[in-house]
Amino acid sequence: MTGKVWFVGAGPGAPDLITVRGARLLAEAGAILYTGSLVAETVLQWAAPQCEIADSKTMALAEVTAWLLDRAQHHAVVVRLQTGDPTLYGVVAELARPLDAAGIPVGIVSGVSSAMAAAAAAGECLTLPELTQTVIFTRLSERTAMPAGESFVSLAAHGCTLCIFLSIERIEAVVAQLLEAGWAAIAPVVIVHKATWPDEVVLRGTLNDIAAQCRAVNIDRQALIVVSPALGARFRPSAIPSKLYDAAFPRRFRPTPIEEPTP
Ligand code: SAH
Repeated sequence: MTGKVWFVGAGPGAPDLITVRGARLLAEAGAILYTGSLVAETVLQWAAPQCEIADSKTMALAEVTAWLLDRAQHHAVVVRLQTGDPTLYGVVAELARPLDAAGIPVGIVSGVSSAMAAAAAAGECLTLPELTQTVIFTRLSERTAMPAGESFVSLAAHGCTLCIFLSIERIEAVVAQLLEAGWAAIAPVVIVHKATWPDEVVLRGTLNDIAAQCRAVNIDRQALIVVSPALGARFRPSAIPSKLYDAAFPRRFRPTPIEEPTP
């Protein structure tokens, strides 16, 4: 038989943040391979008791593919369970290529990215009218070289919201490059470690003090860094209200209210 391999987003950690579709596929799966270094094991509660479950933490990319290829010969539904949303930093293309070549059908199921979970954990919005309407998902270049035109400093210079993945170990370099890009030393920063996990930590600071705060509580992995002119807007009385809620703004799905005749 040839089964289908599903790349399923587990969400950021909390088991009830996987999608309904993702949980259904876990229940139907004959075999699940999850990234134990990042996916919370509690998400596996949606799997059937007889399901074969393996951790890919110590596997090389080729071993992951070989595992998925093999299990697809034996089960109708095979799940590769990945952290957050599988389309972000999830190497799905590399893993799917050999499956495509072998004629095994592949599907992708969205998940709640840690970028979204971090914003929610901190009670923040990533966009705010007049301040920023753009979000950049990026990372500091390290072993993975950044493509030409995507240097961290040039992206940061836009001044819009930045959700910075995979970079917390180099928080000092992140801060230095944000300053180089023109951000103020007092610009607000939010760092969320293990968003939605029981031991989630939310740190708030400025570019001046955030690195020291991280070091003080030993946060050097599994954290999302958010910098944005929208941070803290809830607590600023002067925040400009969204035009979406402005009665005069033409809305596509809600007709402009009919004015009451003045008596
Ligand atoms: N596909 C994932 C990202 C995988 S790359 C997603 O959509 O979230 C791994 C990076 O994601 C980590 O280095 C960290 O920056 C971030 N990350 C993953 N899970 C996280 C969590 N629960 N809390 C904070 N950051 C997390």
